[in-house]
Amino acid sequence: MMTMFADIIVDISLGQLDKTFQYSIPNALIDKVSVGSFVKVPFGNGGRTLEGFVLSISDEPKIELSRIKPVISVEEDKVRAETELIRLAYFIKVHYGSTMNQALKTVLPIKKKVKPKENKIVKLSVEPDIARGELSEMRTRKRHSIAKERLLAALIEEGEIPWDILTSKLDIPTSAIRDFEKKCLLNVRSEKTYRNPVVHSKNAERPELNEYQQKAVNRFISDYAEGLRNTYLLYGITGSGKTEVYMSMIEKVLALGKDIIVLIPEIALTYQTLMRFYGRFGDQVSVIHSRLSDGERFDQFERAKNGDVKIMVGPRSALFTPFQNLGLIIIDEEQETAYKSETVPKYHAREVAEERCRLSDASLVLGSATPSLEAFERAREGKYIRLDLPERVEDRHLPKTHIVDMREELKAGNRTMISDALMDALTDRLQKNEQSMLFLNRRGLMGFISCRSCGTVIKCPHCDVSLSLHRDGKLHCHYCGYMTENVKVCPKCGSKYIGTMRAGTEKLEEFLKEKFPQAAVLRMDADTTSGKEGHEKILSQFANREADILLGTQMIVKGHDFSGVTLMGIIAADMSLNASDYRAGERTFDLLTQAAGRAGRGEREGDVYIQTYQPENFVIQASAAQDYEAFFKEEIAYRKIMHYPPMSHLLLIQCMCENHERLEEKTKLIYHLIKEKNPKINILKPVDASISKINDTYRMAIYIKDDSYERLITAKDIVSDALLNMSALKGITIFFDFDPVNGY
Ligand code: ADP
Ligand code: ZN
Ligand code: ZN
Repeated sequence: MMTMFADIIVDISLGQLDKTFQYSIPNALIDKVSVGSFVKVPFGNGGRTLEGFVLSISDEPKIELSRIKPVISVEEDKVRAETELIRLAYFIKVHYGSTMNQALKTVLPIKKKVKPKENKIVKLSVEPDIARGELSEMRTRKRHSIAKERLLAALIEEGEIPWDILTSKLDIPTSAIRDFEKKCLLNVRSEKTYRNPVVHSKNAERPELNEYQQKAVNRFISDYAEGLRNTYLLYGITGSGKTEVYMSMIEKVLALGKDIIVLIPEIALTYQTLMRFYGRFGDQVSVIHSRLSDGERFDQFERAKNGDVKIMVGPRSALFTPFQNLGLIIIDEEQETAYKSETVPKYHAREVAEERCRLSDASLVLGSATPSLEAFERAREGKYIRLDLPERVEDRHLPKTHIVDMREELKAGNRTMISDALMDALTDRLQKNEQSMLFLNRRGLMGFISCRSCGTVIKCPHCDVSLSLHRDGKLHCHYCGYMTENVKVCPKCGSKYIGTMRAGTEKLEEFLKEKFPQAAVLRMDADTTSGKEGHEKILSQFANREADILLGTQMIVKGHDFSGVTLMGIIAADMSLNASDYRAGERTFDLLTQAAGRAGRGEREGDVYIQTYQPENFVIQASAAQDYEAFFKEEIAYRKIMHYPPMSHLLLIQCMCENHERLEEKTKLIYHLIKEKNPKINILKPVDASISKINDTYRMAIYIKDDSYERLITAKDIVSDALLNMSALKGITIFFDFDPVNGY
């Protein structure tokens, strides 16, 4: 019998992940040791016994045989969260192409000394009625502080709120809190151990589930009770009450003593959403988000491991919460591209969640109003179980949609960005004192400088992208940070008619202010939301009805619930249709449907105006009708013909090098290498990436399409091997991206 060897990690801590030690596996243990096993091994000369995790197994000794010691024992009954996570890392390494180290660093919390953190809780110290009186008095003052009003309103609503949430999510300045403290309106107390607020009052407000919600929950519960662990697609239009359904499912799984992970895209992880979870589950909930330091994140993960919290809510990385007894993973807005990692390993949270559920015998629930083609196709094939919520709650109706043909508008002499019909609707809303939103779809477009005489666009000398004019008056590159003075004359033809095409939000804002001088307008885009939580401030101002019109980019359309909005205008709906990747249609449909879903969420009905130059396009038609299935039918047919995911699989090999000729040479070499070993594989000739240079590094792409994911893995392995062993490939950097969702 061949001797087998195991690479073992003896201590999981920062820096030590790279270091493994090889041990031999005694024959008696050979059936029991696998990747992720938890074992005891002798360590060092003193013969100390340490615990370790098996990272990989092979039949090749890496050092002299006489120096390899045998594994002492396998701890079979000790189920450890780490075991599961290491197996998950292995899956990620194989499926997405990375080293084991990179995969481990993705899944394992990094151990760092965390200073015991002081947690401050802010609590209203007067009766709510008194506070309400104070609030309305404040609002009448001439110089009123919007932040202070927001603080008081939130405290009236919740009673008490952690300091961190106030200062980050609600963007309240410390001075405002201290000022109220002095006036004895609130008090601040410290707690040594981290504890989330329990907001009991909210429990009473739990709505009774409607028929569809109840049906979805019942199906889930009866499957779960029978021991069935499935993947469910909760397909519910915007405002149909998906979050309520998640919470009922969570309640059930929680009652069985199991743990739950809820993934929500960072952009939709708003104060409102968090409070709904806190209100229902109190301090059993913990939240992670990108503003946490590594130490704080580690702290949250430790609490999960120790069973101090049972529900983890957060973006993609919350998937790796080291729960010991996971019973359910929920992925809200599963179609979001943010669920795909943009750094190596480029994993997709949906697929990794499926694997994690398989490993720990948990169920997976995916929720969306506009599912990814992947999820909907799998539901159609019967691999996922579909749970439908076809109606908005409480008989609220979907808004009325109107398609506006902008070509006609131009013919009629209207050269502004807003059609006459939308202008009329805005005027009407202002008169009725109702709120409006304007969504400027300009994905992929930035305020660039171009010459109106010769068409020259000013580009970054290091990257193949246009520079954009910032408010500091300089031209900036969004990729490498290059900065230069703005130009006054065209460098090519000398014309002085050169400048920005400010088709952007700023220009729209100016236009609105000119037309409606009496209206309060809020603008939300990358410029107005500096600082990660800047957008939260604008959103809560709008929610508090401090403005009549909110205009902005895609940031404003995701998951916000403003009951006062009865009008949504979508400017340049087709802008994102022209993007150069195969998911452009899917993304546009998602954006337009979500945007339309923002209107009429309160008691009054809403209107949506979709302005477009391609009114006959099926994506525009289907989103105007809010008809996902019509969209799906056409789009899936296109994917099938083109062999694009989900009807096939796509591997993008990203190649980078500082020297253009060398890059071309080496990508060709890789191309031939794969073709030689897999003559039948459908590999496309290397091409320049859509951004062919960043930071003076040239970029090329090789695409492989195949029905079999396994064959793509084989191709990846061929390239990885060649990179290690062929000197002809030195000097080129390669990343793998399976079924890519982000452009390259
Ligand atoms: P979705 O996530 O599908 O957009 P939400 O779960 O956020 O919908 O629900 C939208 C709003 O409707 C929320 O304010 C929620 O509290 C409320 N809601 C949900 N279910 C019900 C129900 N059965 N009856 C009344 N209101 C409900
Ligand atoms: Zn010019
Ligand atoms: Zn640049």
